[in-house]
Amino acid sequence: MTQLVWPNGTTEEPTRSDGYGPRETSQEVWKEVPGYGGSYEGSDLGRVRSVDRLTTRSDGVTRLMRGRVLKDAKCSQSGHRSVSLMDEVGSARSFRVHTLVLMAFVGARPDGMEACHFDDDPSNNILTNLRWGTRSINTKDRVRNGTHQMSNRTHCPHGHAYVAWNLERSTLRAGRRRCLGCTRARSWARKRGLAFCVEKANEYYERERLKYSFEQSKPLVLAGGLSAARGDAR
Ligand SMILES: [Zn+2]
Repeated sequence: MTQLVWPNGTTEEPTRSDGYGPRETSQEVWKEVPGYGGSYEGSDLGRVRSVDRLTTRSDGVTRLMRGRVLKDAKCSQSGHRSVSLMDEVGSARSFRVHTLVLMAFVGARPDGMEACHFDDDPSNNILTNLRWGTRSINTKDRVRNGTHQMSNRTHCPHGHAYVAWNLERSTLRAGRRRCLGCTRARSWARKRGLAFCVEKANEYYERERLKYSFEQSKPLVLAGGLSAARGDAR
């Protein structure tokens, strides 16, 4: 069984009604980010701020630095947000916001765990969206949220649903999904030396859909001569 560390201390995965998602409150809770001598705080709304502090420059001049909410930068590749923290000797280090929020509210990252975003939006760093979890939990999040490589598309580029009856069997066996309607239209056009046309693909798609509906609505002959519809025609 996989161990989960939730901010609320339970092992059950929170649902929306448990408070998952943005809280409707203006009260932002701030907690110290460990390891920086109290110079930084993370909030349950996914922000990081510095607190008023004295810093000594290399030339020996001491100055009061006013605290402020740090501007986070978005990583263009992963979509994670990060901020830069300065240690007491003035060297900066970049951290992901979710790491700092989890460190402040939950604690250091347990061995073998990574930060997971419940809704799989890497820029949503509110506390209730975060927890330390295993890689498999993270993958589960991605599948559930439909951002996993294999499951993220529900329709082909021409808007035909990736449903069982509209998947080309040969590519399905190879672990890939290809729209049957579009494949048929493509081969229809190729045979005639024509360009692929969406109308033809729609026609094939519609034909498959009707065929499937018909199959589903065929009466099922029951013992005793009674018949019943086999599921809903769609
Ligand atoms: Zn298609």
